[in-house]
Amino acid sequence: MERYTTCPLSFRYAYIDKIPEPTTLSQFKGTFTHKILELLYQDKPFLRTKEQSMHILNSLWEAEKDSENVNEVVENLTNKDDLISDIRKLVLSYFDMEDPVSVDCKATELDITTEISGHKIRGIIDRLDVAEGDQLSIIDYKTGQAPSESFEKSKLNAVLVYALLCEAEFGQLPMEVKLIYLKSRISITKIPSEQSMRAVRARILAIANAIERACEYDDFRPKPSRLCSYCSYQSICPLFSKPQVEGN
Ligand code: SF4
Repeated sequence: MERYTTCPLSFRYAYIDKIPEPTTLSQFKGTFTHKILELLYQDKPFLRTKEQSMHILNSLWEAEKDSENVNEVVENLTNKDDLISDIRKLVLSYFDMEDPVSVDCKATELDITTEISGHKIRGIIDRLDVAEGDQLSIIDYKTGQAPSESFEKSKLNAVLVYALLCEAEFGQLPMEVKLIYLKSRISITKIPSEQSMRAVRARILAIANAIERACEYDDFRPKPSRLCSYCSYQSICPLFSKPQVEGN
């Protein structure tokens, strides 16, 4: 959904035409770091130590370091060393923000699908905890930079979709949704309210209806923004690809 609001044409390329996108270095770091934290939380609480996280990192890296996936995102051995060193820093900085030994984790990588006014909505929650008084708490790890104040609101509204999914699955609105920015060592917490959840439902419905209409009329317009510089489809986007001049 976020992809559609960012640029309908890029949404079409990715989800309708299914044109594959190359994995970027930051995506690789993000996926790898999430995997380490997921496996860490599969251990008993007293085993969730820095040493254990480094042990998981080393085993995963041994299995992955010569894979096509890694070779696609890095060019040489020095870059590989930098890559794993960056991931190590991200994982270690997690321990400066939370003590995983004291966390009551209910689930990790929780895949939930629900229906809102006939539209299927799916999301994967990084971690779901049981907080005080048996209330639920959603944790979302971020490996990029923390957003500026002007973007913070839209990021928080986007993660409230997880609160909606959690309510659909467990019949209980979580007490909070917490974004943990590992690189900046900052966490941002949003407390879902009836009012914010009504707004999220209305937004989801509006986007889902817009996508349905776009499919019906095959109308996916490009929406240029500063994000175009990171778009994998720039070479085929009509706003960027130059027309071929006959005779040249
Ligand atoms: S380059 Fe920009 S306008 Fe074109 S598809 Fe990508 S995001 Fe959309």
